[in-house]
Amino acid sequence: MKLLEERIREDGVVLPGDVLKVNQFLNHQIDPELMYALGQEFGRLYKEETITKILTVESSGIAPAIMTGLLMHVPVVFAKKQKSSTLDGSLYTAKVYSYTKKVENTISVDEKFLSANDNVLIIDDFLANGQAVNGLLDICNLAEAEVAGVGIAIEKSFQKGAELIKKRGVRLESLARISSFRDNKVHFVRSSEN
Ligand code: 5GP
Repeated sequence: MKLLEERIREDGVVLPGDVLKVNQFLNHQIDPELMYALGQEFGRLYKEETITKILTVESSGIAPAIMTGLLMHVPVVFAKKQKSSTLDGSLYTAKVYSYTKKVENTISVDEKFLSANDNVLIIDDFLANGQAVNGLLDICNLAEAEVAGVGIAIEKSFQKGAELIKKRGVRLESLARISSFRDNKVHFVRSSEN
């Protein structure tokens, strides 16, 4: 998606450890218009599917997920990373190792928000080694929900996540695909980089 690639080129900062900082529009300050455009693109890509629910994980997946839910007219559920007194029902849980924080979290979704009647679109901000999406897929399996596919804003295609998701037989659509951070610059899989 050209608009997202241009924004990454303008505002993205490559950090050590193959981490891209996008605090200008996604991970700290959020650009609602750009998020709306991401939602439109996910809506276009998955228009043949009857999605009943968007699933993401807090916190950075929520912005693109909520815009996708708005455009598809379906609820957005975000898996929680912290145990909370407001999570008092039965839970679906999965373990997720965090790429950026280097800690293992247990993510949870209240059983009342996902069921075998759902056809789920999983949305997240980044795809690195696929641990977050893998945990969300595990939660969908526990709920016996169908998964229509995964929508990612920024995929780092040189890491293992995309392969892992495809190996699980799940459709993956990523709006910007990064091939490398060579010379501390962002290079995209499609050749719009030169
Ligand atoms: P994965 O679980 O695929 O290894 O990593 C994806 C999760 O880690 C995303 O939900 C995102 O929050 C975080 N993440 C992974 N790589 C990056 C990155 O390069 N930049 C930022 N800002 N977050 C990342």
